[in-house]
Amino acid sequence: MISISQPHIGDEEKAAVLQVLGSGQLAQGPRVKEFEEQFAAWAGRKFAVATSSGTTALHIAMLAHGIGAGDEVVTTPFSFIASANCVLYAGAKPVFADIEPEYFMLDPDALEKAITPRTKAILPVHLFGQAADMGPIAEIAARHHLAIIEDACQSHGAKYRGQMVGSWGTTCYSFYPTKNMTTIEGGMITTDDAEIAERARLIRNHGSPKRYLHASLGYNFRMTDLQAAIGLVQLQKLEAWNAQRKANAAFLTEKLQSVSGVTTPKVRQGSEHVFHQYTLRVENRDELLDHLGKKGIGSGVYYPIPIHQQPLYKDLGYDVTLPVAEAASRHVLSIPVHPGLSQENLEEIVAAIVSMN
Ligand SMILES: *Cc1c(COP(=O)(O)O)cnc(C)c1O
Repeated sequence: MISISQPHIGDEEKAAVLQVLGSGQLAQGPRVKEFEEQFAAWAGRKFAVATSSGTTALHIAMLAHGIGAGDEVVTTPFSFIASANCVLYAGAKPVFADIEPEYFMLDPDALEKAITPRTKAILPVHLFGQAADMGPIAEIAARHHLAIIEDACQSHGAKYRGQMVGSWGTTCYSFYPTKNMTTIEGGMITTDDAEIAERARLIRNHGSPKRYLHASLGYNFRMTDLQAAIGLVQLQKLEAWNAQRKANAAFLTEKLQSVSGVTTPKVRQGSEHVFHQYTLRVENRDELLDHLGKKGIGSGVYYPIPIHQQPLYKDLGYDVTLPVAEAASRHVLSIPVHPGLSQENLEEIVAAIVSMN
């Protein structure tokens, strides 16, 4: 069986965890601080705030920007549910704009049409390891005086016209085990804005600037030193893993680009894709999904139901049609691209897809 994702926890991660366990400092402590410093330096940002998950990072980002009741945030319907739910957590309303057919990300024209006087922020998702179309998105945000909150949970290290994701606003990362690097559960917020960073730290820890003083309403959204110890090791390995993902993707594209009924992933001109997922557009998607399953090759549909069509959103009264996102959910299929694949695995995946035709 070739799995769709394969987290790698090596001896160094294990040793780092044991060291923390022996230290007596278990919750948020010196390892978290060190992880924040190293992550900020790696991301090229001034501040990084570690959190308990990507979801809580997004939730904190909303609150740190003062987004709340009566506000709207424009985002994509084609993502993991957390990228829209964070807006609901803050008491605000996610507004969905349709996506680009080639890259499956927020379409700048649709985004601009979705802006109203209530819009406070734009929440682009850097999907599958590739950056959203940040040139026009940033231009629209500036023209309408809107904040940008980037969901980079799938795109650690992706670049757009030479700039790393996270260069345009408050940015949220996830370290869930399937992501390009993991802390098991965990997340990070990066920003160059000292005030946003300070607010994020307060919200993460019960609004507490010092012990048992509570200045504002906050939560327990902290990361532990155990997680940070794993993250510090994984961060060292990320670039090599991303390079391997890119090499695997290049092989798959070379072998699959001429297969009929299958469209290989497009990389935006001037952008650097870190292939969190390698996502095909397939004419007979469910047939290929079954076929791969029978051959022992894991694959995944990200995402089978666009967010605006989820029961949660139907119940909230959402009744919009977003044809590009809806078509994408019927035709996408992600196949393994993770750095744990051998050359033999890659050839097996290609052979299985070619044998469908
Ligand atoms: C994984 C993911 C999240 C949530 O991260 P968690 O760490 O699982 O809470 C949010 N947005 C996107 C696009 C994701 O892929």
